[in-house]
Amino acid sequence: MSFVVHIVVSEPATRVVIERALGDRDFDRRTYADGEEFLREARLGGGCIVLDLGLSGDGGGAVFEALVRRRVVLPVILIGRHGDGEEAGRAMMLGAIDFLEKPVREEDLLAAVERAETLFRAGESRRAAGADARAKLDRLSRRERQILEGLVGGLSNKAIARDLGLSPRTVEMHRANMMAELGAATLSDALRLALAAGLGPSGQAAIPNGFEAEAGSSLLRRVLDASGDGAWEWNVQTGALDMSERFLARLGYRVATVEPGFETIKDLIHPDDRNRLERALEAHLSGEAETYSCEYRLRTASGGWCWNQDSGVIVERDHRTGEPLRMVGTARDVTERKRQEDEARSAAELLDLARHDAGTWELDLDTRRLRVTARMRELYGLPAEGPDEVPRDELRAMMHPDDLVRLSEEVDRAIATGEAFRAEFRTYTSDGRCRWVLGEGRIVRDSGGAATRMVGLNQDITERKAAAVELNRVQSELAHVSRLGGAGEGDAPQAPPVRRPTRLDLLLRESCALALVDADSKGISYTIDVAGDLGLVRIDPAQVQQVLLNLLRNAAEAVAEVPVPRRRVRVAARRLDPDEVEVSVEDGGPGLAEAVREGLFRPFVTTKAQGTGIGLAICRALVEAHGGRIEADNGPDGGARFRFTLKV
Ligand code: ADP
Repeated sequence: MSFVVHIVVSEPATRVVIERALGDRDFDRRTYADGEEFLREARLGGGCIVLDLGLSGDGGGAVFEALVRRRVVLPVILIGRHGDGEEAGRAMMLGAIDFLEKPVREEDLLAAVERAETLFRAGESRRAAGADARAKLDRLSRRERQILEGLVGGLSNKAIARDLGLSPRTVEMHRANMMAELGAATLSDALRLALAAGLGPSGQAAIPNGFEAEAGSSLLRRVLDASGDGAWEWNVQTGALDMSERFLARLGYRVATVEPGFETIKDLIHPDDRNRLERALEAHLSGEAETYSCEYRLRTASGGWCWNQDSGVIVERDHRTGEPLRMVGTARDVTERKRQEDEARSAAELLDLARHDAGTWELDLDTRRLRVTARMRELYGLPAEGPDEVPRDELRAMMHPDDLVRLSEEVDRAIATGEAFRAEFRTYTSDGRCRWVLGEGRIVRDSGGAATRMVGLNQDITERKAAAVELNRVQSELAHVSRLGGAGEGDAPQAPPVRRPTRLDLLLRESCALALVDADSKGISYTIDVAGDLGLVRIDPAQVQQVLLNLLRNAAEAVAEVPVPRRRVRVAARRLDPDEVEVSVEDGGPGLAEAVREGLFRPFVTTKAQGTGIGLAICRALVEAHGGRIEADNGPDGGARFRFTLKV
């Protein structure tokens, strides 16, 4: 039979390459302008098909599927663009032998055609050998043929005798005659002949026979089995499902214990996946989807789940009604891929979290160079765009001086001991914000075990801190309420202040960050004005912060009652004289109610349904313990204005 190269390519440029590749090789060629012409005109006796997926008209994919439907089994060489990989992959599963990416290289095309010819010739000689073998088998008597079938099925003489109800001696006699008839000197010669004739273990043709249509699907099955995929063939009408042993073996079942069939498989499908599978199958059978594909889980013999990727296509229809008769497909184990996808997803989520919430950094322990991510830069109020490498001093300058000392000690200890560290600290960025940051770091060693780098992450924990501080504030108010026992008089008893040099400006910023942590979401804006350089002042930072938090929370509650443009809070501080500072908290809220102005700083004076009326009483006690005074009035625009002084 002659070998013809059918060239189904519309693009002139690609055609030229193909012509040039085939050069003066004496392949017969036929060229078709489009898929329609090809399907109409081509005489597909023997040869191969060079098919462009980007064919004008319906495209090469549709032509390929038409070939599958017509059960044309000539080797197909696909040509396509880079993005056609998926379509090509599907076609390769259904038997295309090669996929060449455009621009096609002459040598690749020639090599593919040569391979197709080799396959074709091998098929031809197999066909010839098959015909020869079939002729020989036809000469066998019924008994001799039964015995040969038994042998192909791996049965011993004894077993064959039992199956056929003959004596072993009789079987031996028939067997000797059969061997002589076939001209086979040894058992393996006889088996080879039987296989070449297409005699499978069950007595039916099941052995691949080149590219012949009738054996097409079993060839496919063999190829797919060899490539690690399982394959199946489904009789849509009877429901009989024939699947490769590999498929079952993969699930841990032995054919001996499991009846391979549609019902068996159905029982093994994960309940959550059944509907999806049925829908996918139905979509293809009804003609809605060009192919069937579905990923689902099957229960394994050991009780686990195996992810299966099924793809298939109808390969035979009833000539008259068009009803689907037969489907073939592949089943691929994608459990590992699914697992990797899961892992990748959680890694991506972690990464995402890190990207949103945490800034990461890397410190070279030799050079002391520090590299940071964009988020890390942002945490320190640096523009997100900028060099990876940041001078450590630049970051240090933004930390609270007290925290810096502690953090440096932690880092040094970690480097010295090789242990991880974890520390909370405050940063003060140039845009006026203060943040509480959780920093974590660990040592990374090189392959020789030497500590070379330290990596870590910084996370904004301001909200968490604010919640803790708020809880603390409310608890201390309640503690005072119970201590005062509802007596209604007297100041809340306080521990004396523990004074230490404090950066009051930083304390104001931190207090705003904590008390007004939800400012953005509530449309509240705030400013902090510090007149001149306050330097260090000697106060009890915890107690003064408690005053500030009370005043700021009251201000936030007050402005919540007015429209957004008036939701402003202004904090200011100035030195009155060398040993006294004044701090004020003003807001744009409705101002102090007439009813509370009188005894504002006395306990249990409140206008709020949930209020304790203790906050301002505590403020007064703390301020007075610092040798200061606290007072309140309404400002020029009507909002409340609190002012307190502290002896420093
Ligand atoms: P509480 O907040 O539990 O009522 P406080 O002692 O902190 O207790 O406040 C007493 C009262 O003072 C409040 O109920 C409120 O009427 C008034 N007040 C305090 N701060 C403001 C403010 N910024 N604007 C208007 N009223 C305020």
